Amino acid sequence: MKKDTILTAPDTLSLGQRVRHLFELMKGFELLGAREHPSDFNQIRAEYINTRIRLLALLFSILTPLWIPVDYLILPEETFLDIVLARLLFSASLLALWVRASYVHSLYKARRRLVVLMLIPAIFHLSTQFILGEYLESEYLASYTFLPILIIAIHCVFPLTLKEGILLAFFTIFALSMDELVRKQLFSLTSLNNMWLLGVIMSIAIWAQLSQLHMQLKLFEQATTDALTGLLNRRSFMSQVETELSRSERYNRPLSMALLDLDFFKHINDAYGHQAGDKILVHFSELLREELRATDIIGRFGGEEFIVALPETPLSEAERVIKRVLQSCRESIVEFDDQEIRFTSSAGLGEVLVDIQSSMKLVDAALYEAKDKGRDKVVLASGTELVE
Ligand code: GH3
Ligand code: MG
Ligand code: MG
Repeated sequence: MKKDTILTAPDTLSLGQRVRHLFELMKGFELLGAREHPSDFNQIRAEYINTRIRLLALLFSILTPLWIPVDYLILPEETFLDIVLARLLFSASLLALWVRASYVHSLYKARRRLVVLMLIPAIFHLSTQFILGEYLESEYLASYTFLPILIIAIHCVFPLTLKEGILLAFFTIFALSMDELVRKQLFSLTSLNNMWLLGVIMSIAIWAQLSQLHMQLKLFEQATTDALTGLLNRRSFMSQVETELSRSERYNRPLSMALLDLDFFKHINDAYGHQAGDKILVHFSELLREELRATDIIGRFGGEEFIVALPETPLSEAERVIKRVLQSCRESIVEFDDQEIRFTSSAGLGEVLVDIQSSMKLVDAALYEAKDKGRDKVVLASGTELVE
């Protein structure tokens, strides 16, 4: 008999197990890298990053030439034209980035543009350092030493993972130190001092990036999952199945779908209370996660109704899987307030063909048939056949 121990983690672990457990946790730590993030989230983040890249590129391409009259007043005459040229090139490059970044297909592209966004002002900064040389010691030209700090402050605007943040930080600080490298002064006291200062500001920028990413992940999770069970909500389930359907059509692979409903759930709520009902819903969702594959899509459709889509699974195999779920359910005992609660579920099963909505109607009708036939069974949707 299966008791509701699925959620409880072992609390007596050896040191080796603890280290492995910690490693597993780190691997799943969503702020470290984007590998664990859902693809929908990656696309949303890519668009978010891209929008900010465009805004910043446009803003600085407009603001930069506006400083030319000030330059006219404060710069030594022999440097003025070179600086104007540098400003115009800087502005044009940012404008080109703004045009090229009109849309984004992937996170990879967004990251590449982010590197370009940092590279352009770094090159501008290096060229001004080169043009102005020893004049930079004049207090009038203090604004020309301020750009690296501004570039690093811009890093705060982006929601990045720790890995992305650190790589971009190294790249930016390296680009900004190029003139010291050329002058072979990279390890001079002044240069190390500057790098240290930039590094400290950068670590605050990385913190801001992680906070933004964390907030976005939380919002995404709230918008796409069910709060009680953590399964996908109806909307995100449908959007994932749409994607899966186009994939299964392209590769001519079967996609099965089942609607599951807990039997006499109202009685359970009435007899044991709503909290006990909630515990059973959580238990059932864990049971689905255990019995199905990681690639299967599981959603809570509402109330005590759940929906699953099984990619690359013919109906005969899907039927075996769903029967296993029903059996696990039948054998489960959920303990609540010293009472042992048993429950069963029914399912309608079918194959998704061309149109999801009409396939779902058929599966829904099959579920009703399962209820009519006495519950605790799987019924195949009409029009679907088992191919053994
Ligand atoms: P059937 O076997 O025909 O499916 O009967 P049933 O009682 O399960 O079906 P019915 O649709 O009449 O009742 C569903 C119940 O599920 C009613 C509702 O109070 C309960 N329910 C819906 N959402 C939740 C929830 O989040 N928590 C709890 N505890 N109960 C819920
Ligand atoms: Mg029910
Ligand atoms: Mg129901």
